[in-house]
Amino acid sequence: MKDANEENYLMLSGVQHFRFCQRQWALIHIEQQWEENVKTIEGQFVHQKVDLPLIREKRRDKLIVRGMPVKSHELQTTGICDVVEFIEDPSGIPIMNESGTYRVVPVEYKRGKPKQGEEDVMQLVAQAMCLEEMLVCDVPVGYFFYDEIKRRVEVPITESLKNEVRALFKQMHQYFGRQHTPKVKMGKHCKSCSLENLCMPVLNEKHNVRAYMEGYL
Ligand code: SF4
Repeated sequence: MKDANEENYLMLSGVQHFRFCQRQWALIHIEQQWEENVKTIEGQFVHQKVDLPLIREKRRDKLIVRGMPVKSHELQTTGICDVVEFIEDPSGIPIMNESGTYRVVPVEYKRGKPKQGEEDVMQLVAQAMCLEEMLVCDVPVGYFFYDEIKRRVEVPITESLKNEVRALFKQMHQYFGRQHTPKVKMGKHCKSCSLENLCMPVLNEKHNVRAYMEGYL
């Protein structure tokens, strides 16, 4: 349950939108605009299996929790982890209703294959920061599972990535507080943007066609 001062907490998944394009984040999270394209629909399909209500499953030395709600008071965010694995480890932490101690590992499911941009990494690092704060533990690594390559990719949760996430959330809260939607910033990323059709009419008003094409190609 949220307490009163959590009403203004931002959605954790928004950090990936913000890292991808600040305007895209604002259109979704401030202006509540959304348009589905093939990528978002495929992404939802990948998440269907893992986004079921909280499920705990024990496999040998591992407890797997799916759809785990998380929050961070430092980042002022709430979200849901696709999967959190608790793996038995003598240097880990105790967890409720289980004997022994466990290390904590977030696993995020993604469509496609590893991307060049850092937007997915920011989301995983934010999840790790929530888990560290909630469970009072270290979360030194997380994983992506990509449906196209069908394997995991390890992501070290470094202090410099955490600082980047802190800076992004700070800026997101500032924009949200001012209800500020940044102007169009054209780039190659626009080609894979799920809001291209909603954003472009505004873009076309502000830029001539040549400038638009130069930024887009
Ligand atoms: S079309 Fe480009 S500028 Fe507009 S929201 Fe998408 S990525 Fe951002």
